[in-house]
Amino acid sequence: MRHFAVVGSGPAGFYTAEALEKAFGDKARIDILDRYPVPYGLIRFGVAPDHQSLKAVSKRYDKVAESAGVDFIGNVAVGRDVSVDELLGMYDAVILAVGSPHSRKLGIPGQDLPGVIGSAEFVGWYNGHPEFADLDPPLSGTHAAVVGNGNVALDVARILSKTRQEFEGSDIVGHALDALDHSAIRTVTILGRRGPHQIAMTPKELGELGHLEAASPVVDIADFPPLEADDALEPGQRKSITILREFAATPPEPAKPKRMVFDFFAKPVAIEGDGGAEKIVVERTELDESGAARGTGETYEVPASLVVTSIGYASAPIEGVPYDERGGKFLNENGKIGERLYAVGWARRGPSGTIGTNRPDGYEVAEQIAAAMPPGGAGDRPGAQALKRLLVSRGVMPTDYDDWRKIEETEAARARPGSPREKFVRHEEWLHTIGR
Ligand code: NAP
Repeated sequence: MRHFAVVGSGPAGFYTAEALEKAFGDKARIDILDRYPVPYGLIRFGVAPDHQSLKAVSKRYDKVAESAGVDFIGNVAVGRDVSVDELLGMYDAVILAVGSPHSRKLGIPGQDLPGVIGSAEFVGWYNGHPEFADLDPPLSGTHAAVVGNGNVALDVARILSKTRQEFEGSDIVGHALDALDHSAIRTVTILGRRGPHQIAMTPKELGELGHLEAASPVVDIADFPPLEADDALEPGQRKSITILREFAATPPEPAKPKRMVFDFFAKPVAIEGDGGAEKIVVERTELDESGAARGTGETYEVPASLVVTSIGYASAPIEGVPYDERGGKFLNENGKIGERLYAVGWARRGPSGTIGTNRPDGYEVAEQIAAAMPPGGAGDRPGAQALKRLLVSRGVMPTDYDDWRKIEETEAARARPGSPREKFVRHEEWLHTIGR
């Protein structure tokens, strides 16, 4: 029997477990480890709470978790409770599917002022991530800014602009819903260091901004190249730009009190304020020959007492695992980090791509593993039994599939009307629910 440890229970972890199960059948046991007693990583803590259709992919992962060869072992943090080397002693292969939980930093003066928050923290706050339950983002000012022109920037700007009613059917956590309901923010400026043609936003997500109850998008047509230039764009991007052009052609609705202002060619150079963020100093940019943003020397100020930076993520380094600082991921070659040690998902590729991108990625690594240790061959490592014994000897109590289900059922029972669940937002609440 082979024993595999998949570290991380987000999309990358589950697709890899699914692929390993297909490749090895009943000749392998696959343990999916997570530092929390509930799974799904990005699906639970990253995907926007008002995008329930995206979260529905977890039903596929449920099936993987229910299959005979797969176990869920929660409440164990690899790198803290058990090292990767120790795991390699107990498992035939270890696959790191730990995602990219850290926000990249802007690297400008004022980035650590109160009120400047990374997207990992802000998104975690409204999604019930236990590390950010006490974030308490400042929402009493009228102006906020989101830095970045990707889909996460869109998520953040949209969440800041929706009304309480618009969150119906979502699983936004109660503390965030109440805080946002009382928010004074009326203008969210979305700062892109390059132009409309260079956005990393997708059409469906962008289109949503045109249908918000209380907010209108504001786009300046002067930022666009001539219409003919759109012909050269790849079809998806052309669709996005067409939506932006429509926004530019539509005056903001006077009845809607909130504005989402797209500020292109705008590179933050400093964040200033007395004891907290008050404004961003922005340098006007233009594109250089390579398409990168080049400062023009002209600066201006954008008021913002809340600044959410949505400029990408990085994996958390794990002791003993070679790490690529620039790429924010583990050093690997096609997913292979070292002998019997692999990475998948964002931990392998860096923080880009949709949930579905992780599927081929996980299957590819599972194929490599199957080629390196053909199914049917005997493994001589003990797997979960030894891991659990070690954890208990260290005072760490691993949780299991039944614990996860109990927490989910309790969260569902606590839900406000119309919401699928009211998530617990603290680790202790999870443990208390399962009698720990
Ligand atoms: P992203 O798509 O890589 O976008 C990052 C943005 O930050 C880019 O616009 C980038 O501009 C900008 N940026 C980077 N460094 C900057 C700096 N120093 N100053 C100013 N701007 C800077 O990343 P993301 O939004 O975090 O999304 C991560 C992945 O998840 C993406 O693949 C995304 O599509 C996916 N996602 C999908 C959904 C969905 O499908 N609904 C939702 C959320 C996320 P440059 O282009 O100039 O570098």
